Formats: sequence, structure tokens, C-alpha cells
Amino acid sequence: MSYDKNNIFAKILRGEIPCKKVCEDEYSLAFQDINPQAPVHILVIPKGEYRSLQEFTTNANDHEIASFMRIVSQVANDFDIVKSGYRILANNGEDANQEVPHFHVHVLGGKNLGRMIENTKG
Ligand code: AMP
Repeated sequence: MSYDKNNIFAKILRGEIPCKKVCEDEYSLAFQDINPQAPVHILVIPKGEYRSLQEFTTNANDHEIASFMRIVSQVANDFDIVKSGYRILANNGEDANQEVPHFHVHVLGGKNLGRMIENTKG
């Protein structure tokens, strides 16, 4: 299977559908999740075509990888959730129920997020 150029985040990157942008640089984009699960719920995506963390770390260059981690960190700074605490989470593949096949990290905060995994299917 190859990268699906019609996935929703690819469309956001091409400007075909809007997003509520939070910040970006040459290699990464952060925007508001459309269905927030916490007062702060931001998605960070690389601008390159990677479906998973494995593809990202294997195929992205060091600038892309450094950019990605810096943007994740900047989001936490900008939303003032460093002191109170926050969670970063990446659903990767079937068992994690990844919905959008473009690698992304969720940055969640602004309330107590409870235990790490709450709704397992069995
Ligand atoms: P995941 O299950 O990790 O693949 O999560 C995909 C996330 O993308 C979900 O939290 C969705 O709410 C979010 N999402 C889907 N479509 C959009 C969109 N157009 N803009 C912002 N977030 C979206």
C-alpha cells in the first residue's frame, strides 16, 4: 500500500480544505483538531508524505524530524500547558485505530487527562 494523496491531512496541506492553523514551519504544520477531546487538542503533522512513525523516521531527513519535535514542543508552550501538563499521542496502525493515514501527533491538555488508556475494545 502506498501513501493516499486524498487523505484529509494531505488535502489540508494542499489548501484544498481549511484548517485552524496554530503554527508551522518549512516542514511541519500544527492545527486544531476538528473534534477536540480536551480543552487543548492540537494535531501536528509533517508536511512530507509519511503514513506512520516508521516511515517518518526511516524516510524523513533530520531537518524534518527536528522540526516536528520542535513544533510539538512549541504547541505546548503556546497553549500554556507545560506547567499544568499535557499528553502527546500518536495512533499508529490498526490496533491504535488510526483514522487518518498521514503520520500525526495529538497534543492534549488543559484538564486532567485521566489514565493513559480508558476505552479499550477488549
Ligand atoms: P487518528 O485517529 O489518530 O488518526 O486521529 C485523527 C484525528 O483527526 C481525529 O482526532 C479527528 O478529529 C481529526 N480530524 C479529522 N478530520 C479533521 C479535519 N478536517 N481537521 C482537523 N482535524 C481533523
